[in-house]
Amino acid sequence: MSDAFPVQDQLSDFEHNEVGKKLVEKGYTSLTCEVCGQSNTWVLSRLVVSPVAMQRADIVTKIGGFHFGGSTMPSSPLLCTNCGNTKLINLVVLGIRSPNG
Ligand SMILES: [Zn+2]
Repeated sequence: MSDAFPVQDQLSDFEHNEVGKKLVEKGYTSLTCEVCGQSNTWVLSRLVVSPVAMQRADIVTKIGGFHFGGSTMPSSPLLCTNCGNTKLINLVVLGIRSPNG
């Protein structure tokens, strides 16, 4: 791997197991995919992704373009391995990660 690319943030083994445990605690038993109709095809990715909130429009206008840097919501993708449908599990709501981290 080249040093030019940052290492992607991933869930540790502990965090990955904790997400699974917490989803079950909150009532997850099985999920039917609304795209392909299959069930038991879901896999929790170890990737941590962060949808980023945009800065307020009036601030962006002063800067003259898109500006990232608002609050983030660390999340991990839950993927249907049959069709690729993807949901994001918010790691802050589950208490796995802190906001912006
Ligand atoms: Zn599917």
